[in-house]
Amino acid sequence: MTLTGEHLIGKKITHTETDTFHGYNPETGRPLPTGFFEATPQEVEEAVSLAQEAYPSYRKIPRIDRAAFLDCIAEEIMNLGDALIERAHQETGLPDGRLRGERGRTCNQLKLFASLVREGSFIEARIDHGNPNREPFPKPDLRMMNIGLGPVAVFGASNFPLAFSVAGGDTASALAAGCPVVVKGHPAHPGTGEWVGRAIRMAVERCGMPEGTFSLLQGKGHEVGTHLVQHPGIKAVGFTGSLKGGRALYDLASARPEPIPVYAEMGSVNPVFILPEALSLKGDSMAQGLIDSTTLGVGQFCTNPGLVVGVEGNAWERFVRKAADITAAKQAGIMLTSGIQFGFQRGLQGMKTTPGVEVVQEGHVDDKIASQGVPTLMKTSGNTFLTHDILEEEVFGPSTLLVTCNSRSELLQIARKMRGNLTATLHGTPTEIGEYQDLVDILETKVGRILYNGFPTGVEVGHAMVHGGPYPATTDARSTSVGTSAIKRFLRPVCYQNMPSSLLPEPLHDSNPWNIWRMVDGEWRK
Ligand code: NAP
Repeated sequence: MTLTGEHLIGKKITHTETDTFHGYNPETGRPLPTGFFEATPQEVEEAVSLAQEAYPSYRKIPRIDRAAFLDCIAEEIMNLGDALIERAHQETGLPDGRLRGERGRTCNQLKLFASLVREGSFIEARIDHGNPNREPFPKPDLRMMNIGLGPVAVFGASNFPLAFSVAGGDTASALAAGCPVVVKGHPAHPGTGEWVGRAIRMAVERCGMPEGTFSLLQGKGHEVGTHLVQHPGIKAVGFTGSLKGGRALYDLASARPEPIPVYAEMGSVNPVFILPEALSLKGDSMAQGLIDSTTLGVGQFCTNPGLVVGVEGNAWERFVRKAADITAAKQAGIMLTSGIQFGFQRGLQGMKTTPGVEVVQEGHVDDKIASQGVPTLMKTSGNTFLTHDILEEEVFGPSTLLVTCNSRSELLQIARKMRGNLTATLHGTPTEIGEYQDLVDILETKVGRILYNGFPTGVEVGHAMVHGGPYPATTDARSTSVGTSAIKRFLRPVCYQNMPSSLLPEPLHDSNPWNIWRMVDGEWRK
């Protein structure tokens, strides 16, 4: 199988003679083989129309078959073998080991959603039996359950070419919910996207799913995404990327005659709060953990710790020196794209030129790399941080800002001022954590995940994970984009009133033929 640079629209592998674009090797800065066609508005129309046609039958496919389809996608991705890893490496500069790990995560995520679909409780069935003899009015029989929302547009992310892209968490959760998916591939890894798209297409065919269950459109520039989000056939959007991009899509979706939800996961500085007693006990290992976490994946994780807050004193001074020594020994790494590298430089420049911010240490430059990210450690005072909003903006890359507070109360003031984030981390001894309950109370209102004595990079895919948070971390703080709860974004409840049993969906029959957990007359039962 070779890459053709075309779109995958239902069964068709197709293109119109438009301009083409190339993937780039970020290490060399050179274009890679295969030109990719820009999808036209007609191709967007075709993909969404097919998805609309597929929706009524796809959402009703028996859950066992839908689960088998998700498993089959994972199998087909593995069948792509090393060609997928090689292309992903060329397009992103991410190392082989990381990409193999990410492929495993992507497949396991699909399998986890398959098991969720088999288990079935995600439809959240509820039954309130009626009572025709109730006075003064008879009580109706009410039964509700979730159904898939309709066709979903998914935007692949640049920093996870597999796990947050064509067959990533958004696609897996939408397909699991019973929603056909139209993906707008990320232009930074179009070849990787095409390989994975072909695997999904193969699974659609093998499992006999409706043709429009999945389509992949390629494009470099905002037109394809804009048309997709504005198409009346699209009922929800999943996105991971910049605040600018996510907000633009959210505004577009809100301005439609029929507004739709946009689940955009965007920027986050993931503050780390270091409490004094813990710092004096293990400051050196904290410095190591912090800089390792900051530079992991050249800092291109949405959970990268970009802000570290502590209280002045000898232990803090020693911690800063240790973090500087560790940074000095770190090498520059390959950034995903020249655009991301440019954004990193611009973000750093904004911080460095803010009065009161000092560069403590930079790592080694590597001039052999075209798009390099040099590890950078900066510091400032609590007061400077509180007076300059720019210092709270995400700088996507291997940098972090240390904020020295003059007191416990200034540290709490910083926590109160913070905008929404994906995570916040707390380092402290068990005793002092007890004394900082007020800090935990503030953080609960600001972030989706609070970590204790760890570092935020690395997001476990599970049932209890929350990868979300208040704006600007996401456009909807009630959701997560990682873990099985992500399915809820693409479901909506329907209630059936006094419906004869023969017309009710199976999960709402009194006999509970799916054998799932349901709330019956106010009690959870199986
Ligand atoms: P991006 O610029 O937000 O692009 C993500 C996707 O959205 C691309 O497919 C892009 O397509 C599309 N898009 C962006 N703006 C759009 C608009 N106004 N209308 C329609 N479609 C739009 O993100 P990126 O290219 O991956 O990286 C750029 C920056 O995003 C990074 O420097 C970093 O700051 C941030 N980022 C954050 C995360 C995170 O995890 N939160 C992950 C990756 C990147 P086109 O380019 O084809 O328009």
